[in-house]
Amino acid sequence: MPTFKMEGTVLAKRPFGESDAMVDVLTISRGLETFVARGAFRSRRRLVGGLEPFTRAEFSVYQSRPGKLPLIQDLKVLVSRFALYRNLDDFTRLTDAAAFLMQVLPRGVPEYEVFDLFEALLAAACEGGRADCLTLSFHLRAFSALGWKLDVGACAVCRKMPAIDGPHELDLSSGRIRCPACRSDDPHPPAGLRDRITLSLDQARALSALVLPPRLKAGLEIDARHERFIRTIFHRYMAVHTGVDFAGAPNLTSRGG
Ligand SMILES: [Zn+2]
Repeated sequence: MPTFKMEGTVLAKRPFGESDAMVDVLTISRGLETFVARGAFRSRRRLVGGLEPFTRAEFSVYQSRPGKLPLIQDLKVLVSRFALYRNLDDFTRLTDAAAFLMQVLPRGVPEYEVFDLFEALLAAACEGGRADCLTLSFHLRAFSALGWKLDVGACAVCRKMPAIDGPHELDLSSGRIRCPACRSDDPHPPAGLRDRITLSLDQARALSALVLPPRLKAGLEIDARHERFIRTIFHRYMAVHTGVDFAGAPNLTSRGG
């Protein structure tokens, strides 16, 4: 069937040829997909508004044969998210989250949990939530959905939430954190130190607070100092799992950190 409909959210739009665009869409039914929009950079085409990042739409696409990028023939905008274009810092954070998904998601495979998480992130940001904090919480939840959970809600050994003053130890290879008590109790600490990060109680608390609320929603706030530190940790964790240097990649730079 060469023509079909797919609902999804635009992650990115890139120029393609003189006036066409390649549009990366996180679809519900087929996960990450790339479509071509003919004449998308010509102002008179009616598709234009529906191709902006974070717009949720129903796309009618035509694929001439397998392996060819589907062409967008028509679209129906379901949710416009113009509110997200007002603040450049917030927009950049959300763009980074979208770029992360484009890097790690397989193509053509539905990822319902990740789709719901990304929608929750955009909805919370539209409601005025702080994108810097929300994207961190989004990343932690996305790591879990992708099967590489960073288990920072509680100590991996005693399962207590961070409460003891002293160095907490996060092991990036296992994704587990240990409180000061369990850290010193361990008679056989792992030999490798390369993927180990030491956190203060306040930093461990800030990290834990990102996964405590059962759902991602507006109102999440953490201290700006912790925000930068945690973003650095996540870049290292993503590098461990993907081999991609997210901190150095264009458009993924952690500003101010
Ligand atoms: Zn413990």
